[in-house]
Amino acid sequence: MVKEFQYDLHCHSNFSFDCNTKIEDLIKNAIKVGLSGIAITDHDTIEGVIETQKLGAPIKIIPGIEKTLDDGSHIIGLFVKKEIKSKCLFEVISEIRGQGGRVIIPHPFKEYTGLFRSEMKRTEEFKQYVLTLVDGIEIYNAKYSFSNNQLMKGIVLPNRLPRLAVSDSHYSFTVGRGRTGFSNEITNNRLPKNDSIYIETRSKSTSNQSGKPKKEMAMIKYVKIIAKMIRLYPFLKKLKINYLEHKNYRLKMKRIEL
Ligand SMILES: [Zn+2]
Repeated sequence: MVKEFQYDLHCHSNFSFDCNTKIEDLIKNAIKVGLSGIAITDHDTIEGVIETQKLGAPIKIIPGIEKTLDDGSHIIGLFVKKEIKSKCLFEVISEIRGQGGRVIIPHPFKEYTGLFRSEMKRTEEFKQYVLTLVDGIEIYNAKYSFSNNQLMKGIVLPNRLPRLAVSDSHYSFTVGRGRTGFSNEITNNRLPKNDSIYIETRSKSTSNQSGKPKKEMAMIKYVKIIAKMIRLYPFLKKLKINYLEHKNYRLKMKRIEL
């Protein structure tokens, strides 16, 4: 079989307001789960990307940003070099392009932040027009529910458009839970059409919003309550992270040909 390059093009670090993951840990785990590279796409900043460039990571790191628009929607810029100033969709797209970057639509139907979420009441014409302006779209985001990902089936995508699977990881141990397979290495400023995506085999029925299995979440919740009572919380928190990290290395990913 020809070598395939697996990328996770949507990952967060502690430069995002809602993430505590150190870049070193993110990269360490990305290597452990066999990724060829990741994109660091923090919320509204490229500071983490600048830090990573100083580190000199042993795998390919694509500088990215997940920009919040004035209506709350998110847009991802890959291969960006500077912060994005505008918050207006078409200006953000042209700013990313102006830097030689590539534009991705993340989790299009996610409530509150998806560009095509139902509350926005976008027309079919609007969606199709935006799709002509972008370079890729997430068809699977491991952070969101099976039913949310299924909504992607209701949209007609242009043939040329790369269809991506990503983790949207906010923890080091969730990196790689959604991946995109490319037959060629991604080079600067180029996002080739991909051949495959990889999703978790268990994601159909057991994932919830945070990407953790429901049973585990329930168990963790009760253990947390008891642990707080007996002041063992910091110790058990560490134990939980170790357990989930360990579990991630045994992850089974299913390859889907596109
Ligand atoms: Zn994200």
